[in-house]
Amino acid sequence: MNGVKVYLQFLKDTVGIEYMKGTGDIDNEEKESLQELRKEVERCKRCPLFRTRTHIVFGEGNEDAEIMFVGEAPGREEDLSGKPFIGRAGKLMDGIFEKIGLRRKDIYIANCIKCRPPENRNPKPEELLMCLPYLEKQVEIIKPKIIICLGKFAAQQLTGSALPISVLRGRTMKYREVTAIPTFHPAYLLRNPHAADSFKEDLIKAMKMV
Ligand code: SF4
Repeated sequence: MNGVKVYLQFLKDTVGIEYMKGTGDIDNEEKESLQELRKEVERCKRCPLFRTRTHIVFGEGNEDAEIMFVGEAPGREEDLSGKPFIGRAGKLMDGIFEKIGLRRKDIYIANCIKCRPPENRNPKPEELLMCLPYLEKQVEIIKPKIIICLGKFAAQQLTGSALPISVLRGRTMKYREVTAIPTFHPAYLLRNPHAADSFKEDLIKAMKMV
């Protein structure tokens, strides 16, 4: 039994949170394509967020990307469209991409959680855990050289650290064999424009590494 399964059993035994198996089987070790994985996520009922989603936000971009961005969870506009980072924070990020010569078509963008938490609340630990196998599979298929972790949830989820993003930002870490660079979430930059330079610096560092 792997670590995720042990924890899922623990949740069921202790707090009664049932592991809701989708019709697909993400334990399948065979290499599956992103399209097949996407279909699996569309049917997913592993956590209660399936009840309130309009669309899943699977992720999009270059399937051979060397740099993959991982955010937190879809917001309202993403839930309505099914596309990642298309709201104000996404537009701000696009503006920074343009300044440093990074194009969305060269990267892949996904979130830790594929369905929107109601009222844009923070994802719950059990939701993050239930959705994690999909993100893991995406990374396995895309095989990026660098993962930019956007914000606390992505950084903690992928690096295993419990430290705040203010401490993790600027470090070069690892997710399995992949270099992970934690940085601020673009939504944070909307409220704290002074942090945009640090964000830009982290992206340029990643671009130089590939
Ligand atoms: S958030 Fe993830 S685990 Fe929860 S229902 Fe959506 S796809 Fe499934």
